[in-house]
Amino acid sequence: MAIQLDLSDIGTRESRLGSITGYAGDLKDLARRSECGTLRGCSRCFSQSSTCLSACALSQLSGIRDVAVVHHGPAGCSTTGTQSFRVTKQVAKKRGIENHTVYIGTDMDENDTIFGAGEKLADIVRTTYRRYHPQAIFVASSCAAGVIGEDIDSIVDDLREEIPVPIAPVHCEGFKSRIWATGFDISDHAVLTSIVEPPKEKRNTINFKNFYESARPEIIKIFAEFGVKPVFLYANATVDELRHMSEARATVCICGTLGNYLGTALEQEYGVPYVRSINPLGVTGFETWLRAIGKAIGEEEKVAAYIARERAIYLPKIEEVKKELRGLRCVIGMGPGYTFEVSRVLQELGMEVAWGAAWHYDKQYDNGKVPPSMDYLLKHGQNFKASVADQQNFEVLNILNREQPDLYLSRHPGSTVWAIKQGFPALFVADEYMIFGYKGTLDFAYEVLNAIRNRSFEKNLAAHVKLPYTKWWYDQNVDALLEHPKGDTGADQQAAGEA
Ligand code: SF4
Repeated sequence: MAIQLDLSDIGTRESRLGSITGYAGDLKDLARRSECGTLRGCSRCFSQSSTCLSACALSQLSGIRDVAVVHHGPAGCSTTGTQSFRVTKQVAKKRGIENHTVYIGTDMDENDTIFGAGEKLADIVRTTYRRYHPQAIFVASSCAAGVIGEDIDSIVDDLREEIPVPIAPVHCEGFKSRIWATGFDISDHAVLTSIVEPPKEKRNTINFKNFYESARPEIIKIFAEFGVKPVFLYANATVDELRHMSEARATVCICGTLGNYLGTALEQEYGVPYVRSINPLGVTGFETWLRAIGKAIGEEEKVAAYIARERAIYLPKIEEVKKELRGLRCVIGMGPGYTFEVSRVLQELGMEVAWGAAWHYDKQYDNGKVPPSMDYLLKHGQNFKASVADQQNFEVLNILNREQPDLYLSRHPGSTVWAIKQGFPALFVADEYMIFGYKGTLDFAYEVLNAIRNRSFEKNLAAHVKLPYTKWWYDQNVDALLEHPKGDTGADQQAAGEA
């Protein structure tokens, strides 16, 4: 379905893309069910807490330079996006730039939830503009604002007549989706509908959607060889850079889950090619991604020359370290944008994927196609046991106990620590650039070696920690707690889970 930029709100990933948060089986079954339309998410009779989509939406928006985020909700909800807001400011300091973005909560209380707080919200937005002079203002809702039907669209419409900078409503009520990545799409929608302008002239830039720009100098250098300049989004991007995104030569991203909505919308509305590729992780991912960029901007020869030169430097070193990794068994727990990418890299390095747990699964992206990472694995005949759960750690521990892997890899610290308490070496793949390019792949291979060579920390910790899980739970198949939709026996899934 086409992206609708004339609407102020968007559908959730569940409704737009058929995304799910409950499944256990294997990769091939997951793909088959997606293709023939029978994939329906299972629910759980027990569920641990998860993440609010506001955190994704507001962390993205509050990274933009010199804007204001006004979150209309109780104080507890308003803290959800503040962690990334802080990190972005630290990154700004490191880069030697100033980021004056402010993050404000309206502190809704009981009275507000009964009588409404529209006037209070409007006054806070006016005061925010007067006091901080932001370049744009994002007015975000919360569950409480959504439940009482606070009309932030009308409030924002009225404020537009008084305040001379872009103001956008951000419909990020946490209850609307179990998939926190919906928040990424919501933030893109707010930027696209309030800041991005139609193109006036083509620029020699590439929109680069990422999280924290840690590989910024390296990427600027690589892109300079192809004659283009990356514009990193959204952390520390200026409102002026966002305004001109429609004039770029292409849009690329470090992770399809993060960048798909923005890339598809810019392509649909302004004809900016969106580079749909597997992520630049591992050798295959990096080369495939670079070649796709080269094709999009018509610089295939320069890309080929870069690849040939860098291969000669790094491939012999990677081949050498691979000898020590061969045969290691791994379990992965990450968002789908990384689970199905890192699994490819692990196999490229000679390791075995015992189980891939994805925090959600998009059976398609906004262009109606299967995500490139999944498409790649299936086209190359790969299969492994897989599950989908919105970071339900109790399921991860069951899987780890069953699989007894050599290593657990996660992109979420709240998950990694449990594996360590269970006695398994774990690698926290926090930085999105940890496996980026040839050098990143080589460094990552050494990180794996470091994690598995010295096991004393995990062993000591496990010996002194009493986990709350009983033998009964460890004996269960993770499929046991999933409630299959009516008419779906989950037979394939059970068979795969028991295999
Ligand atoms: S899910 Fe709702 S109540 Fe919970 S933090 Fe998010 S907005 Fe607040």
